[in-house]
Amino acid sequence: MCADLSGIEPVIYKSGINVPYHWWAGDTASAFLTALRDRQTITAIKCGSCGMVFVPPRKTCPQCFTPNTQWLEVGPLGTVTAFTVARKQLAAIKDTVPVVFALVKLDGASTSMLHKLLLQNPSLAKAGMRVKPRFAQDRTGTILDIQGFEPA
Ligand SMILES: [Zn+2]
Repeated sequence: MCADLSGIEPVIYKSGINVPYHWWAGDTASAFLTALRDRQTITAIKCGSCGMVFVPPRKTCPQCFTPNTQWLEVGPLGTVTAFTVARKQLAAIKDTVPVVFALVKLDGASTSMLHKLLLQNPSLAKAGMRVKPRFAQDRTGTILDIQGFEPA
């Protein structure tokens, strides 16, 4: 005998799935991140063909598709090329808003890297301002080994 289930209201629960995972950053990103962690230096990679200097480093030049092999240090000083102020607290933003996110072009680099600006007052952010990295006390080999950039 089967029970008659017709007419039963479906009950729907909303939930999420937590999927922990590990992945290898690759040899290029690993070299960049270990330099941040162990030497507090920001490394870049230069294209031997077109001369572009990439930060974060790129294994292959996206301009001319040449494999990049020339490592160098850039910065630590840089210039803010653009910024935005996050004012809505979202799950992806770990800091308490407002948080200033900026593109920083380090001295010697052709590209800008995205990071936080460490400012007491977001209205002090300006394109063209000179900044320097503030490194974290406890570094673990992530981009957050740089806490952010502060006025130089
Ligand atoms: Zn190139």
